[in-house]
Amino acid sequence: MHDRVNGTRRRLAQLGALAPALARTLRAYGAPEQRLQSSGRRAALAELGYRQVQLCSGPLQRQAAENHALLMNLDEDSLLRPYRSRAGLPAPGTDLGGWYDSDAFAPGATFGQWMSALCRYHAISGDGATRAKVQRLVAAYAASIDPQGKFYRHNRFPAYIYDKLVGGLIDAHRHAQDIGALPALMRTTQAAAPYLPAHAMPHGEGIKAGEDFSKHAWDESYTLAENQFFAWRETGDAHYYASARRFLYDEFFAALAAGHNALPGKHAYSHVNSLSSAAQAYLTLGSPMHLRAAENGFAMIDAQSFATGGWGPNEHFVEPGSGALGASLEDQIRGFETPCGAYAHFKLTRYLLRITRNVLYGDSMERVLYNTILGALPIEPDGNAFYHSDYTRNAQKCFNENLWPCCSGTLPMIAADYSISTCLQAGDGLYVNLYVPADVSWEQGGASCGLSIRTAYPYEGSILLTLSVPSPQTFVVYLRIPAWAEGATVRVNSRGARSSAQPGTFAAIRREWRAGDRIELELPLPLRLQRVDDQHRDTVALLAGPLALMRLVDDPSEPPRLTRADLLAARRQDPRAHEWQLELRGRTVKLRPFADIGFERYSLYQDVREARAGGSQA
Ligand SMILES: [Zn+2]
Repeated sequence: MHDRVNGTRRRLAQLGALAPALARTLRAYGAPEQRLQSSGRRAALAELGYRQVQLCSGPLQRQAAENHALLMNLDEDSLLRPYRSRAGLPAPGTDLGGWYDSDAFAPGATFGQWMSALCRYHAISGDGATRAKVQRLVAAYAASIDPQGKFYRHNRFPAYIYDKLVGGLIDAHRHAQDIGALPALMRTTQAAAPYLPAHAMPHGEGIKAGEDFSKHAWDESYTLAENQFFAWRETGDAHYYASARRFLYDEFFAALAAGHNALPGKHAYSHVNSLSSAAQAYLTLGSPMHLRAAENGFAMIDAQSFATGGWGPNEHFVEPGSGALGASLEDQIRGFETPCGAYAHFKLTRYLLRITRNVLYGDSMERVLYNTILGALPIEPDGNAFYHSDYTRNAQKCFNENLWPCCSGTLPMIAADYSISTCLQAGDGLYVNLYVPADVSWEQGGASCGLSIRTAYPYEGSILLTLSVPSPQTFVVYLRIPAWAEGATVRVNSRGARSSAQPGTFAAIRREWRAGDRIELELPLPLRLQRVDDQHRDTVALLAGPLALMRLVDDPSEPPRLTRADLLAARRQDPRAHEWQLELRGRTVKLRPFADIGFERYSLYQDVREARAGGSQA
């Protein structure tokens, strides 16, 4: 294993020396995914364009629309104030406040992410006003760039902020066809260069001699590689290819690839984010070590996740087998950094699903969707933003104590990315990953095909998919059958018997499709229990399908004395209701999914009172 890692490192070093020539060669031979295919490895599933998946009325569409509107209403002079004032330029307008201001914790840190999100909303909607706003912001930002990089002087997060700007400018070029974006990207890179470390640095280490050391701790240079690979693809400039390689966090990745759990004690969100750089390195370089790092890293995260799919109490990974996850329920109200964590989780699981076609990554994305991000409080126009999910026994949703924190940058991004997370394309057909109301369009064998998804899932288990094709077309529709969905069935065109679908696989339906063909998918939503960790076997969460059901706390001084059987007997008054109930000696216990809880007190986990039943999974 060690030799293989060293071999990969040697190969990377050789690639680095050849970077400019190699970049030209790679461009001449086409996209990296195509190279993987021609070298005998199965091609990764392709993402659809943002425009190709239109969400229909429902909670995802609502969250995307409200974030789009929030960004459209942000004042442009206010957005530019930290950039203009740190460059010594006139900076009209008023401060946004919170983390964002010129001398605040993270000046202008969310600007690049908001630009990315606006570009993605333009790509989804085609809205001209959104594109015009992006173009004004790029031009005004470009005019604020100081070649000496004054913006980055005595700035706590030079790598973090640069990384987000790179993403925003790439998206402005890719999705808003902004001709100023790539020149602004080059000047941004030149300005930031003196303030970036020589290579990926651990979180908390200082990076720049002569700068205030304390202000450079917590920077996240180990997340840079992914966007540098994108910048290389977008510009063809070999500098970005070399830079992507330079910032690959290979000391971390090699440990994970070798099966060593390097997570405990590390800052959670940013290290999950860095695993997307590993996945992108695999797609670009074809390096097996980077894929193993991403896969093993995901498995190690999954093993220390809450029943919601969230992880990282107090923003850090815990020691496996220590009982720290269960212990965090006592008083750790910072249970999961929800928008940032969910954004990183979506990105990583989308990569791994594309590369491996393994259902478990879609299952995990879905769990994070319904139990974390979809229940985040909307960002308010004054910058109040949801940050941490609270998993204590008397929890409540709240805003972060600071206006415009990091999570106000990632919530608009993930809501835009619901589109590209719904379906993925293979050479032989379409993979359906999320069962959300949507209209999907794609090209299959040169024909323009469409799929409409209609469902109230996960509150109901029935999903109806309807095909539209210009003429009969033969291809495969792949349906994700979650690992918990025992008894799932599929039927085409309401004829004949339902066929059973194997949980934990993609059900593949290959046929000659005609316009109006209908697929009926039925996913049972069994109630089941999951304990928080092996050291707290009697602390369990109740799940219904992908939904974690959280108990509404009516009397914090006297929690109900529940057994496992009590919890598993919870029922809905109406099969469509968003609330489950159980009667307990004259007391009604109510449970709801995270997205159906407002400011009521709740408890994700319940302490059950009897000894663990033999064979129980919880
Ligand atoms: Zn955050």
